Amino acid sequence: MKIFKSYTFEAAHFLPNMPEGHPCRRIHGHSWKMELHFDGELVMPYEWVIDFNEIDEVAMPIWKILDHNFLNEVEGLENPTSEVISMWVWNKIKTSLPALYKVVIFETPEAGTEYFGD
Ligand SMILES: [Zn+2]
Repeated sequence: MKIFKSYTFEAAHFLPNMPEGHPCRRIHGHSWKMELHFDGELVMPYEWVIDFNEIDEVAMPIWKILDHNFLNEVEGLENPTSEVISMWVWNKIKTSLPALYKVVIFETPEAGTEYFGD
């Protein structure tokens, strides 16, 4: 069984490694979406994979770092592509919630990244 929980956050960034003139080199913002996907057996007698509240307890401190922030100033997100953000989120969550199976980061409704770990 696979379950997921999603969170939206507003944040600014720019991509410092892009050449001058590239639009991603300028500071701009996105309405991001972070999805956390989990894979596991149903736990009886609850008949669920993980308590969604347990996911929130791990995810909300991470969400608070990301939301209404300038991502380039967050340690580990100096070059905050969707790919880097998905790996950063994975590394912050996997130890606490080992059933984590996939992190999805949308930087727009049409563009994003899926990360499945190493
Ligand atoms: Zn961007």
